[in-house]
Amino acid sequence: MSDTNLQFLDLARQSPDKTAVEIRRFNYNEIYGQFDPEQAGKQSGRCLDCGNPYCEWKCPVHNYIPNWLKLIRDNKLFEAAELCHQTNSMPEVCGRICPQDRLCEGACTLNDGFGAVTIGAVEKYITDTALEAGWRPQLSAVTETDKKVAIVGAGPAGLACANVLRRYGVQTIVYDRYPEIGGLLTFGIPPFKLEKRIVLRRRALLEESGVRFRLDCAVGKDVDIQQLIAENDAVFLGMGTYTEMQGGLPGENLPGVHQALPYLISNIHKQMGTFQHSPDFIDTQGQRVIVLGGGDTAMDCSRTAIRQQAKTVYCAYRRDEENMPGSRREVRNAKQESVRFRFNLQPVEIAGDKKVEGVRFVKTTLTQADRRGRKTPQAIPGSEFVIAGDCVILAFGFRPSPPPWFADCGIKTDNQGKVLVTKQQAAFPFQTSNAKVFAGGDMVRGSDLVVTAIDEGQQAAMGITRFFGLGLS
Ligand code: FAD
Ligand code: SF4
Repeated sequence: MSDTNLQFLDLARQSPDKTAVEIRRFNYNEIYGQFDPEQAGKQSGRCLDCGNPYCEWKCPVHNYIPNWLKLIRDNKLFEAAELCHQTNSMPEVCGRICPQDRLCEGACTLNDGFGAVTIGAVEKYITDTALEAGWRPQLSAVTETDKKVAIVGAGPAGLACANVLRRYGVQTIVYDRYPEIGGLLTFGIPPFKLEKRIVLRRRALLEESGVRFRLDCAVGKDVDIQQLIAENDAVFLGMGTYTEMQGGLPGENLPGVHQALPYLISNIHKQMGTFQHSPDFIDTQGQRVIVLGGGDTAMDCSRTAIRQQAKTVYCAYRRDEENMPGSRREVRNAKQESVRFRFNLQPVEIAGDKKVEGVRFVKTTLTQADRRGRKTPQAIPGSEFVIAGDCVILAFGFRPSPPPWFADCGIKTDNQGKVLVTKQQAAFPFQTSNAKVFAGGDMVRGSDLVVTAIDEGQQAAMGITRFFGLGLS
């Protein structure tokens, strides 16, 4: 081990600066700043090069993390950017919004007492800074083919699939019912986690590489799926999961109760100035807001309500803090921004006569962990009480939404509606029960993460190239 490998002893983990709470509560800008080259080099130099890079294994796309950290330590920015893009179609997005504490950084050897290497922040630094300095992904060796693939869905899965297919010279058109690309990156995740200009910059790069987009175009309505299958050599589906889980609570239909995604999307349209797509802006200014749920969506709703200048924002979850599915980092950020968390509370009714007046909860205790390590909340009899509020946001998650045309195309799903595909080890991974149709992302695995959607889109693209018998030139 050389001296540089011991840098972690003298240099503490440091994340890029965050905007002060009293400023960020009043705007939608990303809250994290950027490393300068010296900080990025020093933080990268903390990597032990431990020889057993658990971080790489825990990263769903298996980024070559220690290798690009070393390149940044040695000030080789463009080489690092090229290496980042070999495994990840959107490193600048993952660097911003992956739950690193559960993935790469959680597995870093230094996480045991010394503080993990700031992998996500360096990944973001690499692509942002390289692109600003004029670097572009290397595509000069691409040999065009006559193969054509239609991609349904411009979310991370569809975009990653298109990106890899273009490297193999495949003609790709991406269809999306929304007016802009990104899927939930654009119409879901708020700008304080991911500014929309980042997605627009990625769109320009994809277009430069030859990917074409047909937006405002719903497949199955504006364009016929059978026609897409017939006119293309393969089709990739990356349509996400959009059926909201219902709480089944009395009072869910009262005025003042909103589903999470329409709430977030209406606010995003306001920020983007695209009101024509969302005439029903949901404003919580001055209101007492209660968000129900404990995942990333609940956190994003709570922090959006803070920025809309809600009077108070409660976020209530039925398990304890340790068992919350949301990213730890985002919980910390939400707490700093004055979101009031209430754990071990199960909603039993949305109270109110003509409109919401509050939520009735029962306190819970958790059972022992089951075989999957999950603890079940159990109601404590006689512990019911009401938190008063004017607005309730339901953030219980999403289920797949398989369209009726799946049956006509021979695309099979499981009993939850998730599309069935071949395994990663198969000859053509991510192939559906219709041999010409591949699928990946949330619609296959259920609501998950951006990085897992990217991984499946990329792997499906490899499956498609093998299906075509193509090799990389
Ligand atoms: P999506 O992103 O949902 O994209 C699917 C696309 O398909 C959409 O653009 C949709 O319009 C299009 N589509 C669907 N049907 C049709 C059709 N018939 N015709 C044309 N187009 C169609 N993950 C993280 O890693 N970190 C986070 O911080 C995080 N925060 C989140 C916050 C919120 C509020 C939500 C809802 C999710 C969050 N996630 C986060 C999860 C992440 O966004 C998803 O796992 C990821 O976007 C899934 O990608 P996808 O491509 O499978 O689907
Ligand atoms: Fe970590 Fe996500 Fe980047 Fe992988 S893609 S290195 S998990 S931030």
